[in-house]
Amino acid sequence: MFKKILIANRGEIALRIIQACRELSIRTVAVFSTADRDSLHVTYADEDVCIGPGPSAHSYLNISAIISAAEITGAEAVHPGYGFLAENAGFADALRECKIKWIGPSPDSIRLMGDKSRARKTAREAGIPVLPGSQEALSSADEARALASRVGYPVILKASAGGGGRGMRIVHGPEELEQQLQTASEEAAVAFGDGSIYLEKYLVEPRHIEFQILGDRYGNVIHLGERECSIQRRHQKLLEEAPSSALTPELRLSMGEAAVRLARHVGYQNAGTIEFLLERTGSFYFMEMNTRIQVEHPVTEMVTGVDLVKEQLRLAWGEKLTIRSGLQARGHAIECRINAEHPETFRPSPGKVETFHPPGGPGVRVDTHVYEDYVIPPFYDSLVAKLIVHAADRPEAIRRMERALDFFVIEGIDTSIPLHREIVRDDRFRRGDVSTRFMERFRPQKSAPKLVGV
Ligand code: ADP
Repeated sequence: MFKKILIANRGEIALRIIQACRELSIRTVAVFSTADRDSLHVTYADEDVCIGPGPSAHSYLNISAIISAAEITGAEAVHPGYGFLAENAGFADALRECKIKWIGPSPDSIRLMGDKSRARKTAREAGIPVLPGSQEALSSADEARALASRVGYPVILKASAGGGGRGMRIVHGPEELEQQLQTASEEAAVAFGDGSIYLEKYLVEPRHIEFQILGDRYGNVIHLGERECSIQRRHQKLLEEAPSSALTPELRLSMGEAAVRLARHVGYQNAGTIEFLLERTGSFYFMEMNTRIQVEHPVTEMVTGVDLVKEQLRLAWGEKLTIRSGLQARGHAIECRINAEHPETFRPSPGKVETFHPPGGPGVRVDTHVYEDYVIPPFYDSLVAKLIVHAADRPEAIRRMERALDFFVIEGIDTSIPLHREIVRDDRFRRGDVSTRFMERFRPQKSAPKLVGV
């Protein structure tokens, strides 16, 4: 096993990776920006290296600074976590050239599945259902118009290089198309450095269901069941569950089989997630693949008992998979993403945390890097904690989440806790009657997909 790895990330996921490394007796190197000097990932890592000032472009996205840190400290591999450089094939290539291992899939897999329009094409080749729409990135407004009238409005325009719920526009009729395409492309060019856009049919009330995949270098690929991620605001996940109350055993089998088939088709190694949209009719469509660990991985860990980060480390080291595909989920798990933001306007709320009392007790897990007096820097994602509960069944898990949210005290900043309290007490949520539009009806204007800006 690796003796020392570098973690090219911050916040709760950096800590999560340190925990897994400690249990596997792997030494850890933290990298940090000057804004993160007092962060727990720096405290808990065995070694730490400052890689630049607060803004991500100068620190957590600074490939040469991170590689230098790995070389100086003699780290054998890099774990990228999620966000930042986690899906940057160029970074994985650069590490390989420096003989540093990448804890993730091959750069080729990242290229193949990381570009969303290319991934659609790959999925189609593997015989997986994809939504009607572009074969490749759009080359002109005329092409978009012809395609949209063929698949029928509404359609959604997406940035091929997009992510994090950004860079999407819903188009309701032909009169909006050309203008939306132009703005979407300009904005994608600025935000992602790539203005290519593709188009697909917009489903009005689907569920977001995703499958956790693991692959080893010997061609074995398994799935570890699904996560239901339909509760979203502005196309970003707020609450996730495993298993999904929408899946019959037959549907779980066929979606899981499709996910494994696609991962096998691209020779996928390490952990990844295949995302689908599911209609009420039971039709499902490939949406995208994330070639990294997901924020919501703990719900899968709770119901399968598998430590996904340890698996990533073992697989990157070259061990063979020993877990069986489609393990029967044990009980039910729910995760609430606690963000430092106003619960109604969703405006970020960085600043000093005056009081921090996470809940505990049976079946409660809190993944966080926050502590009392910690100052949340303004530069990064607003996630401050993931509150995860596990119980024998969904009603008990909901009850447990209610009390855990009631016992979670964070003062000094605004958080999404009040919003999560409302969600878990909502009748429709309790019945499992959810879709990606759930929050929109719950909080009309505020949660609607953001139509401007990427
Ligand atoms: P990102 O990579 O930015 O997360 P995704 O392609 O995964 O973007 O989509 C994020 C969310 O946007 C989905 O979970 C869903 O709510 C919504 N969405 C994306 N594509 C469609 C579609 N074709 N129809 C309806 N909703 C969609």
